[in-house]
Amino acid sequence: MGCFSYHCKECGEAIREKEGVKLYLLHEGKVLEEMEGNYTLYGEVEGKEWKNDIDKIFDLHFNNFRNDGIAAIHSDCFDGTLPTTSSEDDEEQGDGKAKHAKSKKSTHTYYKPIIKSKRDIERDKGLEDLGDRMSKTIAEAEKFLEELKKKK
Ligand SMILES: [Zn+2]
Repeated sequence: MGCFSYHCKECGEAIREKEGVKLYLLHEGKVLEEMEGNYTLYGEVEGKEWKNDIDKIFDLHFNNFRNDGIAAIHSDCFDGTLPTTSSEDDEEQGDGKAKHAKSKKSTHTYYKPIIKSKRDIERDKGLEDLGDRMSKTIAEAEKFLEELKKKK
């Protein structure tokens, strides 16, 4: 799913290709899906794919809310505490030599679909209202132009 790179929530270092990592898809601080394995640099681990709709995952990734998006933790940094906020992006795109251990397993667990929150619903409603107002304005402008033509 495009080139995604993160900083580990525990050690703060960039997560590099083929390092063992745990990835958590978060929405409002809750884990919807998780996977563990060797990182691919594409926001997933080798041989696993997110089950949630990719467009919705992008929404969570880019909406700027810290408790939405993907949290990444090296498998050898993980202390058993589930993350509630997403990872910082790595500007270097995960470039560099792997330092952390490879993962011995490759797992994926799906818990819940992404369901729009009240906040998202309000935002979408706002956009819809704006769209309605704009179409109305355009229709009025067209009508006005028609009338102008008739007067000629
Ligand atoms: Zn780490």
